[in-house]
Amino acid sequence: MGPLTAVKRRLQGVVSTRETREEYGCQSCEARFDVQYHTCPDCGSYSVERFDW
Ligand SMILES: [Zn+2]
Repeated sequence: MGPLTAVKRRLQGVVSTRETREEYGCQSCEARFDVQYHTCPDCGSYSVERFDW
């Protein structure tokens, strides 16, 4: 396996994590969730909104 293969695998890993169901995120601390919280569990912000990719 050459270095390019390793890079390719890493890129594919990034893509696959983006396809998980983490559709919501905190606008303040950028934490991501797969459910929509009313308040962010991380920072307590009310700015948890759905991502529009
Ligand atoms: Zn937050």
